[in-house]
Amino acid sequence: MSEELHAADRAAHTGNDEFLLTPGPLTTSLTVKQAMLRDWGSRDRQFIALNARIRERLVAIVGGERSFVCVPVQGSGTFAVEATLGTLLPRDGRLLVLVNGAYGERMMKIAKYLGRPAMALSCAEDRTPDLDSLAALLAEDRAITHVAAVHCETTSGILNPIEKIADIVVDHGRSLIIDAMSSFGAIPLHVQRVPCDAIVASSNKCLEGVPGMAYAILRQSVLEACEGNAHSLSLDLYDQWRAMEGNGQWRFTPPTHVLAAFDQALHEFEEEGDVEARHARYSANCRVLVDGMRAMGFETLLPDELQAPIIVTFRMPADPNFDFGAFYNRLAARGYVIYPGKLTVAPTFRIGCIGQLVKEDLEAALAVVRKVLDEMGVTQCAPAADAAE
Ligand SMILES: *Cc1c(COP(=O)(O)O)cnc(C)c1O
Repeated sequence: MSEELHAADRAAHTGNDEFLLTPGPLTTSLTVKQAMLRDWGSRDRQFIALNARIRERLVAIVGGERSFVCVPVQGSGTFAVEATLGTLLPRDGRLLVLVNGAYGERMMKIAKYLGRPAMALSCAEDRTPDLDSLAALLAEDRAITHVAAVHCETTSGILNPIEKIADIVVDHGRSLIIDAMSSFGAIPLHVQRVPCDAIVASSNKCLEGVPGMAYAILRQSVLEACEGNAHSLSLDLYDQWRAMEGNGQWRFTPPTHVLAAFDQALHEFEEEGDVEARHARYSANCRVLVDGMRAMGFETLLPDELQAPIIVTFRMPADPNFDFGAFYNRLAARGYVIYPGKLTVAPTFRIGCIGQLVKEDLEAALAVVRKVLDEMGVTQCAPAADAAE
């Protein structure tokens, strides 16, 4: 297929003339968007059935059918992280957060707002947490009740060793809360292999829905004991769960259109072949992106073995003709929206591989990157030597 035909075909598939190469909101299919062309009453029987179906499917994705429940909440992913920490941590609880990026830091900040004592086990953004230190900390500090970890830390795109983390936390008899926001549905995470009490994610990342709703998959026996923990009525997942179990409804106005789109997105996820197929598609996207950028001289922040196929961090080229603002604007004008860096270790930018993207879209994006670099007169894409430190 010619470049133009491919572009037209993709535009018809997504209903967009641009691609979001970002970690969410991301490019969704036209059919997901079309699912929003109906108004639903929140007490409508069909809507209640749709909501129940979504909750069941989400639990099944992590294999939690018998012992876990899905509790949704209005808002972005952070709302569900805050709701989960606030609901699961008792007032006298103590949290340990594994931090190697902005989302770990954010959980520390949430704990502070909640008034729950919290400590961080931190490491550099391009490293995974030190597991011996985690075990030692849990052995020493008996007051720690919960550990929070990020599966894919979207700040860098690093894949944290969540199975090993879970084994250590379980061995020490503590409760594990996983922020799986940017990996849920695309990187296998199964509660039988990764024992935990909570997995938090949202509608608008790898499940390719639209933004506006997030959720926690919670171990029911743990949630049952959480009455009265929450600091906030609207973020009380215990209360939300009890009410929803009672009459099938959300306590407060549900994001009906978002849920209708999410139902369609989950249907498309199943048709594609579940986690395995999505992982394969994103991995192919990531491979094309990394190989293509390296061929132009760019360097990735992470070695391949730490890279999750979600979003890739590239070091800023040292070439004086390279200006990120201009690069970004020129790519966006041609229909490719990339993402600035969020790192403290080095100047970087990011390009996402998730959403309704296939490897041909990444190939087309790379061709545009090449054109833009030529226009800008950038010949050297390698970072400054000292940026690698
Ligand atoms: C996207 C994301 C969140 C939530 O961010 P929102 O902007 O609130 O949706 C949390 N953790 C991780 C790892 C994420 O990628």
